Amino acid sequence: MNAPAPRDTAEDLAPRILAGERRALARAITLVESIRTDHRAAAVALLEAVGQPGRQALRIGLSGTPGVGKSTFIETFGLMLTKQGLKVAVLAVDPSSTRSGGSILGDKTRMEFLSRDPNAFIRPSPSQTHLGGVARRTREAVALCEAAGFDVILIETVGVGQSETLVAEMADLFILLMAPAGGDELQGVKRGIMEMADMILVNKADGDLKPAAMRTVADYAGALRLLRKRPQDPEGFPKALAVSALEDQGLAKAWEEMQALANWRRETGHFAARRAEQARHWFEAEVREGLLARLETDPEARARMRALGASVAGGQKAASVAASEMLATLGI
Ligand code: GDP
Repeated sequence: MNAPAPRDTAEDLAPRILAGERRALARAITLVESIRTDHRAAAVALLEAVGQPGRQALRIGLSGTPGVGKSTFIETFGLMLTKQGLKVAVLAVDPSSTRSGGSILGDKTRMEFLSRDPNAFIRPSPSQTHLGGVARRTREAVALCEAAGFDVILIETVGVGQSETLVAEMADLFILLMAPAGGDELQGVKRGIMEMADMILVNKADGDLKPAAMRTVADYAGALRLLRKRPQDPEGFPKALAVSALEDQGLAKAWEEMQALANWRRETGHFAARRAEQARHWFEAEVREGLLARLETDPEARARMRALGASVAGGQKAASVAASEMLATLGI
Protein backbone atom coordinates (compact mmCIF):
# COMPACT_ATOMS: atom_id res chain seq x y z
CA MET A 1 0.00 0.00 0.00
CA ASN A 2 2.85 2.33 0.85
CA ALA A 3 4.99 1.55 -2.17
CA PRO A 4 5.92 4.59 -4.23
CA ALA A 5 3.92 4.77 -7.44
CA PRO A 6 5.72 5.01 -10.80
CA ARG A 7 4.42 8.56 -11.22
CA ASP A 8 6.22 9.64 -8.05
CA THR A 9 8.97 11.53 -9.75
CA ALA A 10 10.79 14.64 -8.65
CA GLU A 11 9.21 16.64 -11.50
CA ASP A 12 5.73 15.65 -10.43
CA LEU A 13 6.13 15.82 -6.66
CA ALA A 14 8.38 18.86 -6.15
CA PRO A 15 5.92 21.58 -7.24
CA ARG A 16 3.11 19.92 -5.35
CA ILE A 17 5.20 19.76 -2.18
CA LEU A 18 6.25 23.37 -2.56
CA ALA A 19 2.53 24.19 -2.87
CA GLY A 20 2.00 22.48 0.49
CA GLU A 21 -0.01 19.51 -0.78
CA ARG A 22 -0.14 16.94 2.00
CA ARG A 23 -0.77 13.95 -0.25
CA ALA A 24 2.31 14.74 -2.28
CA LEU A 25 4.28 15.13 0.94
CA ALA A 26 3.11 11.73 2.16
CA ARG A 27 4.10 10.11 -1.15
CA ALA A 28 7.45 11.86 -1.08
CA ILE A 29 8.19 10.51 2.40
CA THR A 30 7.28 7.03 1.19
CA LEU A 31 9.76 7.56 -1.60
CA VAL A 32 12.60 8.58 0.74
CA GLU A 33 11.79 5.56 2.93
CA SER A 34 12.23 3.14 0.08
CA ILE A 35 15.49 1.21 -0.07
CA ARG A 36 15.23 0.42 -3.79
CA THR A 37 18.09 1.93 -5.77
CA ASP A 38 15.83 3.55 -8.40
CA HIS A 39 13.65 5.04 -5.66
CA ARG A 40 16.76 6.37 -3.93
CA ALA A 41 17.79 8.12 -7.12
CA ALA A 42 14.30 9.64 -7.44
CA ALA A 43 14.39 10.65 -3.76
CA VAL A 44 17.73 12.42 -4.17
CA ALA A 45 16.43 14.20 -7.28
CA LEU A 46 13.35 15.25 -5.34
CA LEU A 47 15.36 16.57 -2.41
CA GLU A 48 17.43 18.54 -4.86
CA ALA A 49 14.34 19.86 -6.63
CA VAL A 50 12.73 21.14 -3.44
CA GLY A 51 16.17 22.41 -2.53
CA GLN A 52 16.57 25.21 -0.08
CA PRO A 53 13.31 27.05 -0.51
CA GLY A 54 14.25 29.58 2.13
CA ARG A 55 11.56 28.27 4.41
CA GLN A 56 12.61 27.41 7.89
CA ALA A 57 10.49 25.48 10.34
CA LEU A 58 11.19 25.24 14.03
CA ARG A 59 12.28 21.65 14.56
CA ILE A 60 11.38 20.44 18.01
CA GLY A 61 12.60 17.06 19.26
CA LEU A 62 10.41 15.51 21.92
CA SER A 63 11.37 12.49 23.97
CA GLY A 64 9.81 10.61 26.83
CA THR A 65 9.19 7.08 28.05
CA PRO A 66 6.01 5.26 26.97
CA GLY A 67 3.05 6.41 29.04
CA VAL A 68 4.51 9.79 29.98
CA GLY A 69 1.94 11.49 27.75
CA LYS A 70 3.75 12.20 24.46
CA SER A 71 0.77 11.64 22.21
CA THR A 72 -1.54 13.54 24.54
CA PHE A 73 0.99 16.37 24.62
CA ILE A 74 1.43 16.43 20.84
CA GLU A 75 -2.32 16.41 20.32
CA THR A 76 -2.96 19.34 22.70
CA PHE A 77 0.18 21.27 21.82
CA GLY A 78 -0.30 20.69 18.08
CA LEU A 79 -3.91 21.84 18.18
CA MET A 80 -2.89 24.95 20.12
CA LEU A 81 -0.40 25.78 17.36
CA THR A 82 -2.76 25.08 14.46
CA LYS A 83 -5.34 27.33 16.15
CA GLN A 84 -2.73 30.07 15.97
CA GLY A 85 -2.60 29.48 12.23
CA LEU A 86 0.63 27.49 12.27
CA LYS A 87 1.17 24.37 10.20
CA VAL A 88 2.41 21.46 12.30
CA ALA A 89 4.10 18.26 11.16
CA VAL A 90 4.71 15.29 13.47
CA LEU A 91 7.36 12.73 12.64
CA ALA A 92 8.42 9.79 14.75
CA VAL A 93 11.72 8.07 15.34
CA ASP A 94 10.75 4.74 16.79
CA PRO A 95 13.60 2.41 17.68
CA SER A 96 11.21 -0.40 18.63
CA SER A 97 9.76 -0.55 15.13
CA THR A 98 13.20 -1.50 13.86
CA ARG A 99 12.83 -4.75 15.76
CA SER A 100 9.15 -5.53 16.00
CA GLY A 101 8.03 -4.08 12.70
CA GLY A 102 5.22 -2.39 14.59
CA SER A 103 5.00 1.28 15.34
CA ILE A 104 4.09 2.78 18.68
CA LEU A 105 4.86 6.37 17.79
CA GLY A 106 3.31 8.81 15.40
CA ASP A 107 0.26 6.61 15.24
CA LYS A 108 -2.64 8.71 14.06
CA THR A 109 -5.11 7.05 16.40
CA ARG A 110 -3.03 8.42 19.26
CA MET A 111 -3.68 11.95 18.03
CA GLU A 112 -7.24 11.75 16.92
CA PHE A 113 -8.10 15.42 16.50
CA LEU A 114 -4.74 16.62 15.30
CA SER A 115 -4.69 13.96 12.59
CA ARG A 116 -7.93 15.39 11.19
CA ASP A 117 -6.69 18.97 11.30
CA PRO A 118 -5.99 20.27 7.79
CA ASN A 119 -3.02 22.23 9.14
CA ALA A 120 -1.38 19.16 10.60
CA PHE A 121 0.54 16.28 9.08
CA ILE A 122 1.35 13.14 11.08
CA ARG A 123 3.68 10.44 9.92
CA PRO A 124 4.55 7.30 11.89
CA SER A 125 8.02 5.81 11.95
CA PRO A 126 8.73 3.42 9.10
CA SER A 127 8.89 -0.17 10.20
CA GLN A 128 11.70 -2.64 9.88
CA THR A 129 14.46 -0.23 9.14
CA HIS A 130 17.70 -0.04 11.06
CA LEU A 131 18.27 3.08 13.14
CA GLY A 132 20.60 4.59 10.54
CA GLY A 133 17.84 4.19 7.95
CA VAL A 134 15.28 5.76 10.26
CA ALA A 135 17.65 8.66 10.87
CA ARG A 136 18.13 9.34 7.18
CA ARG A 137 14.45 9.03 6.41
CA THR A 138 13.54 11.38 9.27
CA ARG A 139 16.11 13.95 8.27
CA GLU A 140 14.85 13.87 4.71
CA ALA A 141 11.22 13.93 5.84
CA VAL A 142 12.06 17.04 7.90
CA ALA A 143 13.48 18.69 4.78
CA LEU A 144 10.35 17.80 2.79
CA CYS A 145 8.01 19.11 5.52
CA GLU A 146 10.00 22.30 5.61
CA ALA A 147 9.72 22.63 1.82
CA ALA A 148 5.97 22.08 2.15
CA GLY A 149 5.78 25.16 4.37
CA PHE A 150 5.29 23.62 7.80
CA ASP A 151 6.08 26.06 10.59
CA VAL A 152 6.72 23.60 13.37
CA ILE A 153 8.05 20.07 13.02
CA LEU A 154 7.73 17.87 16.08
CA ILE A 155 10.03 14.87 16.04
CA GLU A 156 8.89 12.36 18.59
CA THR A 157 10.90 9.53 20.09
CA VAL A 158 10.85 7.27 23.13
CA GLY A 159 13.34 7.70 25.90
CA VAL A 160 15.75 4.96 25.09
CA GLY A 161 19.38 5.58 24.34
CA GLN A 162 20.49 6.19 20.80
CA SER A 163 17.24 7.40 19.31
CA GLU A 164 17.21 10.38 21.67
CA THR A 165 20.65 11.43 20.55
CA LEU A 166 19.56 11.07 16.95
CA VAL A 167 16.54 13.26 17.45
CA ALA A 168 18.46 15.85 19.45
CA GLU A 169 20.94 15.99 16.58
CA MET A 170 18.29 16.86 14.03
CA ALA A 171 16.27 19.29 16.12
CA ASP A 172 16.64 22.99 16.91
CA LEU A 173 15.18 22.44 20.36
CA PHE A 174 15.16 19.25 22.36
CA ILE A 175 12.42 18.73 24.94
CA LEU A 176 12.22 15.97 27.53
CA LEU A 177 8.77 15.05 28.72
CA MET A 178 8.83 13.53 32.19
CA ALA A 179 6.33 12.15 34.65
CA PRO A 180 5.92 13.33 38.23
CA ALA A 181 8.25 11.33 40.45
CA GLY A 182 7.81 10.22 44.02
CA GLY A 183 10.12 11.83 46.60
CA ASP A 184 13.22 13.37 45.14
CA GLU A 185 14.25 10.58 42.77
CA LEU A 186 15.17 11.85 39.36
CA GLN A 187 13.78 8.83 37.50
CA GLY A 188 17.25 7.69 36.61
CA VAL A 189 17.57 10.16 33.74
CA LYS A 190 21.01 9.76 32.32
CA ARG A 191 23.24 12.75 32.67
CA GLY A 192 23.98 12.72 28.94
CA ILE A 193 20.31 13.08 28.15
CA MET A 194 19.85 15.87 30.66
CA GLU A 195 22.76 17.63 28.98
CA MET A 196 20.98 17.49 25.62
CA ALA A 197 17.72 18.91 26.95
CA ASP A 198 16.73 22.52 26.32
CA MET A 199 13.63 22.14 28.41
CA ILE A 200 12.22 19.52 30.74
CA LEU A 201 8.44 19.43 30.87
CA VAL A 202 6.96 17.54 33.78
CA ASN A 203 3.60 16.36 32.50
CA LYS A 204 0.47 15.32 34.43
CA ALA A 205 0.67 18.35 36.72
CA ASP A 206 -3.03 18.06 37.47
CA GLY A 207 -5.33 16.54 40.10
CA ASP A 208 -3.69 14.32 42.68
CA LEU A 209 -0.42 14.32 40.79
CA LYS A 210 0.04 18.07 40.90
CA PRO A 211 2.04 18.33 44.16
CA ALA A 212 4.39 15.54 43.04
CA ALA A 213 4.75 17.24 39.65
CA MET A 214 5.69 20.56 41.27
CA ARG A 215 8.30 18.84 43.45
CA THR A 216 9.67 17.05 40.41
CA VAL A 217 9.96 20.34 38.52
CA ALA A 218 11.96 21.77 41.42
CA ASP A 219 14.20 18.71 41.47
CA TYR A 220 14.92 18.93 37.75
CA ALA A 221 15.45 22.66 37.91
CA GLY A 222 18.04 22.01 40.62
CA ALA A 223 19.70 19.26 38.60
CA LEU A 224 19.79 21.44 35.46
CA ARG A 225 21.47 24.26 37.38
CA LEU A 226 24.27 21.87 38.30
CA LEU A 227 25.10 21.16 34.66
CA ARG A 228 27.87 23.00 32.89
CA LYS A 229 26.64 26.21 31.25
CA ARG A 230 26.33 25.83 27.47
CA PRO A 231 27.12 28.74 25.15
CA GLN A 232 23.86 28.22 23.25
CA ASP A 233 21.73 29.01 26.30
CA PRO A 234 20.55 32.38 27.51
CA GLU A 235 20.17 33.03 31.23
CA GLY A 236 17.69 30.63 32.82
CA PHE A 237 18.01 27.83 30.27
CA PRO A 238 17.71 24.89 30.15
CA LYS A 239 14.62 25.07 32.32
CA ALA A 240 12.01 22.80 33.85
CA LEU A 241 8.30 23.55 33.71
CA ALA A 242 5.09 21.83 34.80
CA VAL A 243 2.42 21.05 32.22
CA SER A 244 -0.77 19.08 31.93
CA ALA A 245 -1.28 17.85 28.40
CA LEU A 246 -4.64 16.41 29.41
CA GLU A 247 -5.98 19.68 30.82
CA ASP A 248 -4.05 22.00 28.53
CA GLN A 249 -2.20 23.68 31.38
CA GLY A 250 1.19 25.28 30.93
CA LEU A 251 1.46 24.52 27.22
CA ALA A 252 1.10 28.13 26.14
CA LYS A 253 3.85 29.05 28.60
CA ALA A 254 6.05 26.21 27.33
CA TRP A 255 5.56 27.41 23.74
CA GLU A 256 6.43 30.97 24.78
CA GLU A 257 9.64 29.71 26.35
CA MET A 258 10.50 27.62 23.29
CA GLN A 259 10.06 30.65 21.05
CA ALA A 260 12.05 32.87 23.39
CA LEU A 261 14.90 30.37 23.33
CA ALA A 262 14.75 29.92 19.55
CA ASN A 263 14.67 33.68 19.00
CA TRP A 264 17.62 34.26 21.30
CA ARG A 265 19.57 31.59 19.42
CA ARG A 266 18.61 33.11 16.08
CA GLU A 267 19.77 36.55 17.18
CA THR A 268 23.04 35.29 18.59
CA GLY A 269 23.86 33.05 15.64
CA HIS A 270 23.67 29.82 17.63
CA PHE A 271 20.64 28.67 15.68
CA ALA A 272 22.32 28.92 12.29
CA ALA A 273 25.59 27.54 13.67
CA ARG A 274 23.82 24.49 15.04
CA ARG A 275 22.05 23.85 11.72
CA ALA A 276 25.30 24.21 9.84
CA GLU A 277 26.97 21.74 12.18
CA GLN A 278 24.05 19.33 11.82
CA ALA A 279 24.19 19.57 8.04
CA ARG A 280 27.90 18.80 8.08
CA HIS A 281 27.33 15.90 10.45
CA TRP A 282 24.61 14.39 8.21
CA PHE A 283 26.71 14.82 5.13
CA GLU A 284 29.54 12.91 6.75
CA ALA A 285 27.20 10.24 8.10
CA GLU A 286 25.70 9.81 4.64
CA VAL A 287 29.10 9.38 3.05
CA ARG A 288 30.08 6.81 5.68
CA GLU A 289 26.83 4.91 5.19
CA GLY A 290 27.21 5.03 1.43
CA LEU A 291 30.70 3.60 1.67
CA LEU A 292 29.56 0.82 3.97
CA ALA A 293 26.65 0.05 1.66
CA ARG A 294 29.06 -0.18 -1.25
CA LEU A 295 31.25 -2.60 0.65
CA GLU A 296 28.23 -4.77 1.30
CA THR A 297 26.44 -4.60 -2.03
CA ASP A 298 29.06 -3.98 -4.72
CA PRO A 299 30.08 -7.47 -5.99
CA GLU A 300 33.56 -6.35 -6.94
CA ALA A 301 34.19 -4.73 -3.56
CA ARG A 302 32.85 -7.81 -1.79
CA ALA A 303 35.10 -10.12 -3.77
CA ARG A 304 38.10 -7.93 -3.06
CA MET A 305 37.23 -7.85 0.66
CA ARG A 306 37.01 -11.66 0.70
CA ALA A 307 40.28 -12.10 -1.12
CA LEU A 308 42.16 -9.63 1.06
CA GLY A 309 40.50 -11.07 4.17
CA ALA A 310 41.75 -14.50 3.20
CA SER A 311 45.30 -13.31 2.76
CA VAL A 312 45.16 -11.59 6.16
CA ALA A 313 43.79 -14.74 7.77
CA GLY A 314 46.44 -16.82 5.99
CA GLY A 315 49.21 -14.62 7.31
CA GLN A 316 50.36 -13.40 3.87
CA LYS A 317 49.39 -9.79 4.54
CA ALA A 318 49.22 -7.63 7.63
CA ALA A 319 45.70 -6.38 8.42
CA SER A 320 46.61 -2.72 8.11
CA VAL A 321 48.39 -3.26 4.79
CA ALA A 322 45.37 -5.14 3.38
CA ALA A 323 43.01 -2.46 4.69
CA SER A 324 44.90 0.32 3.00
CA GLU A 325 44.95 -1.70 -0.26
CA MET A 326 41.22 -2.19 0.03
CA LEU A 327 40.60 1.52 0.60
CA ALA A 328 42.81 2.32 -2.38
CA THR A 329 40.62 0.15 -4.62
CA LEU A 330 37.64 2.22 -3.49
CA GLY A 331 39.42 5.29 -4.71
CA ILE A 332 39.87 6.89 -1.29
P1 GDP B 1 2.72 8.19 25.45
O1 GDP B 1 2.87 6.70 25.53
O2 GDP B 1 3.93 8.90 25.97
O3 GDP B 1 2.31 8.68 24.11
O4 GDP B 1 1.56 8.59 26.48
P2 GDP B 1 0.01 8.89 26.22
O5 GDP B 1 -0.17 10.24 25.66
O6 GDP B 1 -0.59 7.73 25.48
O7 GDP B 1 -0.54 8.92 27.70
C1 GDP B 1 -0.45 7.81 28.58
C2 GDP B 1 -1.52 7.94 29.65
O8 GDP B 1 -1.28 9.10 30.43
C3 GDP B 1 -2.93 8.09 29.07
O9 GDP B 1 -3.83 7.37 29.88
C4 GDP B 1 -3.19 9.57 29.17
O10 GDP B 1 -4.54 9.89 29.28
C5 GDP B 1 -2.42 9.95 30.42
N1 GDP B 1 -2.01 11.35 30.38
C6 GDP B 1 -1.35 11.99 29.38
N2 GDP B 1 -1.16 13.28 29.69
C7 GDP B 1 -1.70 13.47 30.91
C8 GDP B 1 -1.82 14.60 31.78
O11 GDP B 1 -1.41 15.73 31.48
N3 GDP B 1 -2.42 14.38 33.00
C9 GDP B 1 -2.90 13.17 33.36
N4 GDP B 1 -3.45 13.06 34.55
N5 GDP B 1 -2.80 12.09 32.57
C10 GDP B 1 -2.22 12.23 31.36
